[in-house]
Amino acid sequence: MSMHKPQKVVVITGAASGIGFAMAEEFCALGYSVALADVSENATRQAAKTIADRTGGETCWCVADVRDHGASKSALDKVRDQLGDPSVLVNNAGIVVRQKARLEDLPNGHFEEMMAIHVNGTLNWSRLVLPPMRKAGFGRIINISSVNAIAAVPYRIGYVTAKKAILGVTEALALETARAGITVNAIAPGYILTDLLKTRAEAGILDQQAIAERTPVRRWGRPDEIAKAALYLASEDASFVTGTTLVVDGGLSIRGDAGEDLERAPE
Ligand code: NAP
Repeated sequence: MSMHKPQKVVVITGAASGIGFAMAEEFCALGYSVALADVSENATRQAAKTIADRTGGETCWCVADVRDHGASKSALDKVRDQLGDPSVLVNNAGIVVRQKARLEDLPNGHFEEMMAIHVNGTLNWSRLVLPPMRKAGFGRIINISSVNAIAAVPYRIGYVTAKKAILGVTEALALETARAGITVNAIAPGYILTDLLKTRAEAGILDQQAIAERTPVRRWGRPDEIAKAALYLASEDASFVTGTTLVVDGGLSIRGDAGEDLERAPE
């Protein structure tokens, strides 16, 4: 007798912390079975346990660097064994760059690393979940881009290019899958105050106040506000929404000035 699992399964990459963790918690609270994927085994296992304890829901965890197709496949096999095939994939794993630099001063390999994590990672995980989604006639892929893909900023060319490329992946894949009951969308978060960025603000690495003042709603976003956007795109309610980018940035990008100082290049 096969075990019938009526609830939907979501897999979220980069889910051990920040926005990914918040998404995992919100999906779980809504009754999804949630698979958390990330690079650190301890952090991912702990995050899955914390969320299961807090919500009373079902979680599992797996470890993979999203750049590595083989490791990602093994991680997804573990998810399938424990929860079944995912009907929702959130490609969230990413690096929030600390160092700003002119192109000519970028460390060798930095640009390639940004592209590999954000773009190849998104492609790897999408390739792996698509066959069962096609079979089921239903699927949701949600790619986490950035406000920096809408309004570019200087001195983070790898990040900006990778996040813009994610929008290309989103559009092309949305067309490829539109006839199969699968939607593919992106979310472009503005500045979201995760624990990591709080720590950087406290260390004086970024100016929390200045970013809040530049944002039309005059504050940073919260991780749960991105999670809510993901819940919508994953839902049946969003069945006619595909290939689009949901900008969740407190109005920053329509202001047309992300506030970066073009005159003051990094040392
Ligand atoms: P975060 O707290 O650092 O979370 C990102 C997670 O992804 C971390 O747990 C990280 O693990 C993991 N990760 C990094 N490289 C990976 C890889 N190669 N394979 C698998 N997992 C990997 O950052 P966040 O702010 O929540 O960011 C989540 C996503 O939102 C990113 O794509 C980011 O670009 C995007 N975003 C964030 C903001 C913001 O203001 N926070 C704004 C726009 C877009 P380690 O910590 O162990 O490296």
